[in-house]
Amino acid sequence: MAGRIPQEFLDRLLGRVDLVEIVNTRVPLRRAGREFMACCPFHAEKTPSFSVSPRKQFYHCFGCGAHGNAIGFLMAYERLEFPDAVEELARAAGLDLPQTPGGESGPSLKPLLEWIARADRFFRQQLREHPLRQRAIDYLRQRGLTGQIANTFGIGYAPPGWENLTQALREAGASFDDLVAAGLTGRDEQGRPRDRFRDRIIFPIRDRRGRVIAFGGRALDGDTAPKYLNSPETPLFHKGSELYGLYEARAHNRQLQRLLVVEGYMDVVALAQHDIAYAVATLGTATTAEHVERLFRSVSDLVFCFDGDRAGRAAAWRALEVALPFLRDGRQAGFLFLPEGEDPDTLVRGEGRAAFERRLEHATPLADYLFAELRAQVDPDTLAGRARLAQLARPLLEKLPDGSFRDLMDERLRQEAQVANTRLRPPASTVASPADRNLRLTRTPLRKAIALLLYRPELARQTTDDPLALSDDGEPGVKLLANVIAVLRANPQLTTAALLERYRDTREGAILERLAAWEPGVPEQDYRFEEEFGDILASLGRRDDLRERLPDILLRRGSPRALSVEEREAVGNLGKAKKV
Ligand SMILES: [Zn+2]
Repeated sequence: MAGRIPQEFLDRLLGRVDLVEIVNTRVPLRRAGREFMACCPFHAEKTPSFSVSPRKQFYHCFGCGAHGNAIGFLMAYERLEFPDAVEELARAAGLDLPQTPGGESGPSLKPLLEWIARADRFFRQQLREHPLRQRAIDYLRQRGLTGQIANTFGIGYAPPGWENLTQALREAGASFDDLVAAGLTGRDEQGRPRDRFRDRIIFPIRDRRGRVIAFGGRALDGDTAPKYLNSPETPLFHKGSELYGLYEARAHNRQLQRLLVVEGYMDVVALAQHDIAYAVATLGTATTAEHVERLFRSVSDLVFCFDGDRAGRAAAWRALEVALPFLRDGRQAGFLFLPEGEDPDTLVRGEGRAAFERRLEHATPLADYLFAELRAQVDPDTLAGRARLAQLARPLLEKLPDGSFRDLMDERLRQEAQVANTRLRPPASTVASPADRNLRLTRTPLRKAIALLLYRPELARQTTDDPLALSDDGEPGVKLLANVIAVLRANPQLTTAALLERYRDTREGAILERLAAWEPGVPEQDYRFEEEFGDILASLGRRDDLRERLPDILLRRGSPRALSVEEREAVGNLGKAKKV
């Protein structure tokens, strides 16, 4: 949903809260040198590799790679979505959330939510009272649904006719534009208002807070096309990020362990009828990264359920590709292909809950599915075929986050391809020691300079002249370094955590978060931050390829110069606006 939490508020919030305290109330911490340690709450382990840095206000797990600031911790630990984590932190810090125009409680979305809530009541009332309601009730009964489950999901009925809902809401004061914006009404060729949903069973689609934001409709007449119809994209409803049934599944069980991803709302409701109350459905779109991210925020175990036909297999492969970047340690994904002609609805009605759940237990693990599909594309009996297998697998495995799952997958590829000397990464049989990690993280001077800045944001004050001159350079690391310097110069009070927050969900953010794990290998007072940072900047300026373009980024010690108006604007554009 559109709406922003102002950057200044996030800065202030992250400057106010203490991550050590936030973590410690949930996962007891022990001091270890500069940091605090605990056994990681995000993967199973016996020796602590989860560290929290009070200076950086950042946590990092050397075992599974989990990391983030206070907002990220609450999102991961309490399984909250971004705005809820911010709200929770703000409450704990005693700050009032700013109410911004265009925000969820701003003026633009509120009337839409109200009209949709009224439409929801209208559809439910029709299911109870409309003269033709029996057809709808017969359909639901025939699908094995009780009144109770229909009620849980708020199922309703849109009667036949062109203007039932439109008229009812117009009488209640809605303007035609309101109803179009809410996705409830359209116009026909003659320009007459037309209800979007006619003679359909109605499935309200709820957002993460349980508010109805859209509808799905299943045609009652077998000849009506399309059989399934959803609300259009509206300011409230984005198909690519919403999941039908997620709110209901979480409301049913706050300690969900597993979610099953199916294709239709009838599947979700039918499964819930058989006590499998943990299914969700995408809404007429392929699985997106946003879907997977939301799902993994709720559970660590996903099973994707698809038809066994060609279309189902193609959709499953797409889901696999989308899921790979989210498979950090402790998370898993499996694939269940249904027998010909069955869907979850027919299957669970036919064989019952226990048999269906046994299928879930035997879902194909993602790793098996991935290699089976690739093997089917090559001739694994020949050397050329195995080389091709490695070639196909490598870009997929590259998408996996660092961690032991990725190491296992690399190892598995080595076995599958039976190539002794590939250019794969060596397996990390043990967790990297801090020294190895530092080496790996900071193998270029650019990365080292950024890591130093993330450790000590005040180093940015040492730079003079125009750090943004760097951003014209083609080298991505240079651009990022310039960005970071510019942001820190414009906002000298930023903590590492607040700095990282500005890059949330960006490619740059992923790089910065990894570099934020860097630690000086010696006691702080023995480490010469300023000198090292200065040397790197100076050496960057001396490089031939940089020197011409960047004559003036050499480090000078002195008071920071105020940014020009243009610089401020450029800096303002760097931080990504937050979606609420
Ligand atoms: Zn961990």
